[in-house]
Amino acid sequence: MDNQNFQPEMKLLTCPLCFEKCNFFMSYPINSVNGRMAKVIHPKCMAKLGIKKLDLKKQGQIKHEPYEYLQELYNNGEKYDFEKAKNDRLKYLRDDVPDEPSQTDDIQNQLEEAGVSNLFGTKKEINHLHEYLDPQEKIVYAVSGGREGRSYLIVITNNRLMFINKNMFVGGDYEEIGFDYINAVSYSSKFVLSTIMITNGANTIAIENVDKHNAPIFVEKLKKAVQDKTADNQQLFQAQQPVQPQPQTSNLGQIKELKELLDMGAITQEEFDLKKKELLGI
Ligand SMILES: [Zn+2]
Repeated sequence: MDNQNFQPEMKLLTCPLCFEKCNFFMSYPINSVNGRMAKVIHPKCMAKLGIKKLDLKKQGQIKHEPYEYLQELYNNGEKYDFEKAKNDRLKYLRDDVPDEPSQTDDIQNQLEEAGVSNLFGTKKEINHLHEYLDPQEKIVYAVSGGREGRSYLIVITNNRLMFINKNMFVGGDYEEIGFDYINAVSYSSKFVLSTIMITNGANTIAIENVDKHNAPIFVEKLKKAVQDKTADNQQLFQAQQPVQPQPQTSNLGQIKELKELLDMGAITQEEFDLKKKELLGI
């Protein structure tokens, strides 16, 4: 949780909604950047958005809301719609990444287009996802899940399957599996969570604690991505096949016939040699 890294600062900050100075102790943190509080808002400004009392649950809900969005609501005199925001979880995943805004925006767009939702606990991984993708590589789908007790963002692209973990305390890790090595994929569901099984050569990888609704989509999209890649490869393979030269059997057959004609004395050695050279192209 980002709040664990939150260090109070004894200084006055500017409220991003009304642009007046804001005492930290009277303000709410929103929109954390790299685990550090970036913005504070007046309680009275928060109240104008319909957020009167900030309980922990609601604080969690608004924590990753882009403050530009709150500011827009504030300027328009609109209330913050918790239900709407809850149904649009991707909003929470947005975060200010000032150094490379276009790349992370592109990732967000790709995730939205792929219909990805409920990527709980992998915000850090998402912010770094662009570092793992090749320029032409596209996100097909993604889930968050556990593997051997560690939390991963698991991404299907048009090219491969990636496991990304960027745990800041024990160091992150990364693994990718090429589609050529995926033999089978399946899932099983419990009440709200599913386990996805991916057979990779002789090994089976279990991805646990995947959102129950996302697991079947993940399985289907992975199967399709593997098939598409295989089909692409076959097309490429066929396109690269050299044009087979026409079989030379007809020429050889003619030479054999000529030899027979020579042997029976119907043509001379000179005529045979000439014709043979012609047929062999020498
Ligand atoms: Zn204010």
